[in-house]
Amino acid sequence: MGDGTVHALVLTGSGFGASSCYGIGVMKRLIQNPSPHAGNQVVDPEIYSGTVFSAFNIAIMASQMAGSNADTLDALERIWLEEITSQEDLLTRLGLPRQNGVYRLRLDPRSFFDPRTLLRDPTKPFRNLLNDVSFLSRSFSSRLSQFLTSKKPLSKRLLDFPDIADFFDTSPLAKLLEKHIDLNRLRNSDRQLRIVATDWVTGTPAVYGQEDLTYQQILASLAVFALFPRPIINGHPIAGGGIASPTPIRPAVDAAVQLGAKKLILHVVYLRPKLQNIDPPKMPNTFDTFNRLTYLQMKGLELRTLQQGIRTDDRRKRPSSPLEITAHCYRPKKPLWDVLEVLDYDRDKAQKFIEYGFNDAMTHDCEAEDCANV
Ligand SMILES: [Zn+2]
Repeated sequence: MGDGTVHALVLTGSGFGASSCYGIGVMKRLIQNPSPHAGNQVVDPEIYSGTVFSAFNIAIMASQMAGSNADTLDALERIWLEEITSQEDLLTRLGLPRQNGVYRLRLDPRSFFDPRTLLRDPTKPFRNLLNDVSFLSRSFSSRLSQFLTSKKPLSKRLLDFPDIADFFDTSPLAKLLEKHIDLNRLRNSDRQLRIVATDWVTGTPAVYGQEDLTYQQILASLAVFALFPRPIINGHPIAGGGIASPTPIRPAVDAAVQLGAKKLILHVVYLRPKLQNIDPPKMPNTFDTFNRLTYLQMKGLELRTLQQGIRTDDRRKRPSSPLEITAHCYRPKKPLWDVLEVLDYDRDKAQKFIEYGFNDAMTHDCEAEDCANV
């Protein structure tokens, strides 16, 4: 920050499955190659702000896991392609979710047919099955007892009874975080990290910096929809950050003010195209309506976050903290995901999304992307 200029990468959370790999592609272009819109220099971000699965990506980047920006980015790409995503197998063709490094569907029979698992640990599929049956029975009996003893109306009790999250074992994700995110390294890093989650009680964003970051807080930011268990932090359940703040610009602006920056260059990576780039179907259908509704809802939340960001910008005009902000936006040309792909960790798609991100950052056009100077 020799001349007081700070670069921040803001990775939004309005995407699921492998779609956050788009942000890896954008970073590869900006961090590993000089870009005309960045003054023909490589970008060296001092601030990373993100949510949902981008929180995992930026925690790795901010920790400088492999020593340098470029090597850390290569390591992150390998984690996605070798540990998180996988290719199609017989059971995915029958409709079961793809094997992945994030969650395991309870009672998934796949491990019984996987020769690698059977060779390495032949009893594992049986242990998993026993653990799953025991977990689901415990959950079922406690829900049944709550159902029978509750004084709430029957309709409310019926709604409370099932919880699809019971079928998701997210221990692989917890292991993935512990394996790759070194919290001590993060605390000592000269990069600023801001991970955003949602307080499920107040509906407001919860922002975590790296000073006292815990794996629970990262897991909370990753807890998309109601499918993943929401950790309890300070008495409140905390869920995926994309809900309260899908575009976490404000924490990046606050971090720049704390650093005493004079100029902040934001690189905001969206995981959705502009709505006008999403073609309506030839015949209206329920799925498309639901899909567009999700997009519009996200857009509304995004606008609200940007308005909050602008209020922060007003504050910066005070003489005590003058901060000039430039925002470059990167968006895919086509939708990366639909609601049926929320939990799909497809290796081929991950590779494709990295390529899209790289190409979109390479051909970045400030006018077409409505980049802003404030
Ligand atoms: Zn731009």
